[in-house]
Amino acid sequence: MEKFTYVAMPTRVVFGAGSVSQLAAEVERLGAKRALLISTPGRAGMVRVLAKGLGVAGLFDQAVMHTPIAAVEAARAMAKSVDADCCVAVGGGSTIGFGKAIALTSSLPVVAVPTTYSGSEMTNIWGISEGGAKKTGRDVKVLPKAVIYDPSLTLDLPPGTSAASGMNAMAHCAEALYAHDGNPIVSLMAEEGIRALAAALPAVVAAPKDLEARTSALYGAWLAGMTIATTGNGLHHKLCHVLGGFGLPHAETHSIVLPHALRYNSVAREATRRMGRAMGVEDVPSGIWELERRMGLAMKLADIGMKEGDIERAARIAVQAPYPNPRKVEYEPVLELLRNAYEGRRPE
Ligand code: NAD
Repeated sequence: MEKFTYVAMPTRVVFGAGSVSQLAAEVERLGAKRALLISTPGRAGMVRVLAKGLGVAGLFDQAVMHTPIAAVEAARAMAKSVDADCCVAVGGGSTIGFGKAIALTSSLPVVAVPTTYSGSEMTNIWGISEGGAKKTGRDVKVLPKAVIYDPSLTLDLPPGTSAASGMNAMAHCAEALYAHDGNPIVSLMAEEGIRALAAALPAVVAAPKDLEARTSALYGAWLAGMTIATTGNGLHHKLCHVLGGFGLPHAETHSIVLPHALRYNSVAREATRRMGRAMGVEDVPSGIWELERRMGLAMKLADIGMKEGDIERAARIAVQAPYPNPRKVEYEPVLELLRNAYEGRRPE
């Protein structure tokens, strides 16, 4: 075994169906008495119900995808004006992103109750969009102090959103397996995450109210979040970040790009072998592509808002600054990868 460094993230996790009943106790453990609740407009009613028994200072219900700076500033102003002493974010990566953005400038502790499989709740990564680009950074201040994973809250997550979000989690595990700063502990989590997600996601799509499948999917998502918390991003995440700047939806973009990025990076033999073992497939890029097709996911960037005229620009941005990746990141093959993803070709 080679030498390695492993970093653990200090988050308390409460897991299992019904565990959202622990929310007030988790807030109390932090010594907080004035929670700012955070949600998207659609989830505000649910959050109010879940917050019964909590000392609530206010509700910011305007969370939107990609944390645009104007909405972030409104959330930060609200946290200040209601004199909040913690944030409770209930929702997907978009909602949790607002808790993180508030914590970044105020150091308020965040309690996250994730309802998608994005994994954001386990990371110290924040992101804020401004002027058509998303700035990201790492700061332990934004890492939620406590995370409550309650699969019963995910039963209404639509099958398509669940599948795409699950493939976002799968992408975290895949890139962690070949990350330049990976290690055997992260790889254990990544392989187990892929195993859990590959088995659970089709079951969730077939029966969205199947609590056991939802529980496994959320378990896989937790592991996935832990894997990217401490490893660097490779080509796949970099490409999706660039495409996010073009306004494409986050989880769906990850889902479409993943098989193509894995074909590009199949030189990472040991990582690919472990992914194949976890999924029970011989050829990983094709196996992922097949799984997505079976779950009825969008397979073409063209179908989720990508303009053909933007493909070359996206490839140019993606190769601008060098970063560690199993295979050298070069314009021509990246352009080909993006064309294949644009057209939804089976990765050959
Ligand atoms: P999202 O939070 O936008 O949620 C997707 C959709 O699911 C929304 O329409 C939402 O209303 C709906 N939804 C959420 N919970 C639901 C529930 N319980 N029932 C029914 N509908 C529900 O999408 P996401 O993919 O979870 O997050 C994407 C965002 O998270 C992006 O901005 C991305 O950059 C960020 N992200 C950050 C990290 C990180 O480590 N910082 C990691 C992954 C994603």
